[in-house]
Amino acid sequence: MGMDRYRVKPGDKVHLDRLDPDETSAWEGDKAAAKEAFVDLNAKLEALQELLYAEGKHKVLIVLQAMDAAGKDSTIRRIFDGTNPQGVKVQSFKVPTEEERAHDYLWRVHQHTPGDGEMVLFNRSHYEDVLVVRVKGFAPKERWEKRYDHIRHFEQLLADEGTTILKFFLHISKDEQKARFEDRLNDPTKHWKFRKGDLADRALWDDYMAAYEDAMERTSTADAPWYVIPANRKWYRDWVITRILVERLEALKMAFPPAEEGLADLVIA
Ligand code: AMP
Ligand code: MG
Repeated sequence: MGMDRYRVKPGDKVHLDRLDPDETSAWEGDKAAAKEAFVDLNAKLEALQELLYAEGKHKVLIVLQAMDAAGKDSTIRRIFDGTNPQGVKVQSFKVPTEEERAHDYLWRVHQHTPGDGEMVLFNRSHYEDVLVVRVKGFAPKERWEKRYDHIRHFEQLLADEGTTILKFFLHISKDEQKARFEDRLNDPTKHWKFRKGDLADRALWDDYMAAYEDAMERTSTADAPWYVIPANRKWYRDWVITRILVERLEALKMAFPPAEEGLADLVIA
């Protein structure tokens, strides 16, 4: 079963309250051993990203979504640590600007999708338009309700044109968020990560969980699957996500482009 246990299969119902953010069931050793395994796996990911860039045939889009303090930033830092900045781009989606708000919600997103040989990570994404927008009532239901279909079709378009899509929900518990918020408040070097507004989102926790469940149920497809990652333990989160990425990239069967004719006979003067 492997990492497939975390994939939301098309047609599945998602019950986040039944998925334990603390579980580490796919790893049989201890935490220290997992950290070692992660180093090897990370090297594999780096090599695959190099190959992706060199081959220049596939496009890879990784979507990260989660509640505040669930670890989006540290996941990006730790997993993509050794990758080549030439082929990897991180795109964060914040509160839309006035110009962005004047357009449809996919307008700001499409222009950042990966080209050939590129890997792009979305730190938040078009899903905010069925998450925060729904929970906070920034658009009426008639409006956001249609977006699940748009999003499915949009992602299918990307996939049909050669994009490999992986979507990760970092699943932490409400208690874990509390602990991480407290940590941020107690450490002046982390104050910048905390906004008072984060507490308003925390107060709407159950509404967010319901919105996440709907989003994942309605947009997890064969070509653009969602994965619910148990994320209370950072070492496990990093190991699982990296495994999934490595497996998916290996399945692309990429190869370095053929060398020019006659390289074998060349002598460098
Ligand atoms: P952070 O990622 O913590 O720096 O915060 C970015 C903020 O932008 C979060 O509170 C998001 O909910 C918010 N945001 C992102 N996209 C949208 C959107 N489409 N509409 C409203 N708020 C958004
Ligand atoms: Mg934040």
